Amino acid sequence: MTRKNLFIVEDEEDILELLRHRLTREGFIVTTASRGEDALKAIQRKLPDLVLLDLMLPGLDGLEVCRALKKNPKTASVPVIMVTAKGEESDVVAGLEVGADDYVVKPFNTRVLIARIRAVLRRKEEPPPDRDATIHIHDIEINPGRHEVKVKGVPVEMTFSELRILHLLASRPGWVMTREQIVDAVHGEDYPVTDRAVDVQIVGIRRKLGPRADSIETVRGVGYRFKERG
Ligand code: CA
Repeated sequence: MTRKNLFIVEDEEDILELLRHRLTREGFIVTTASRGEDALKAIQRKLPDLVLLDLMLPGLDGLEVCRALKKNPKTASVPVIMVTAKGEESDVVAGLEVGADDYVVKPFNTRVLIARIRAVLRRKEEPPPDRDATIHIHDIEINPGRHEVKVKGVPVEMTFSELRILHLLASRPGWVMTREQIVDAVHGEDYPVTDRAVDVQIVGIRRKLGPRADSIETVRGVGYRFKERG
């Protein structure tokens, strides 16, 4: 396996050194920056395989760095894992909405962090989800073309929106999606749907999934996630 290049943006020297040490030992090639401006320049010069981005940075903060990376066609496809402070769910939502791929909360366990990094790198290799593909996962079969959902082989009735939301979440197991991302993906941008409306849809989907209701996990203060295959 080729060694992957990680770019770490972190202004706290102790954490940066710990990460550099642990991630290098895991076989990653690690490059770092302690300021957002420097990170953007370095990443554009040489694209890493993944960016680990602290949100609280002096100067240009992590959110602005993430937005700049995702807006630039050259760097848009580089996955970003945000590092946020505990209790800052609004930062997580904002980060996911500007295109971050995942997040970890400080203080984090480095083993968990490494697992997240590997999962995000793995997902990057997978083909992008197809809006119309049939999905089989956790005994659930979703066929958007035929507008059919089966749980353990038994057909269940779903509305158009319910099926679209279920298909969206199930096509990216393990990814957290915010309510706004769900609305945008299902109805197109600027569709007037409230967060509460998404919650109501999820309640309906879970009820219909019956024994597989736990396939959709609530990520408190952030959104929803389909349980990873496993
Ligand atoms: Ca910081």
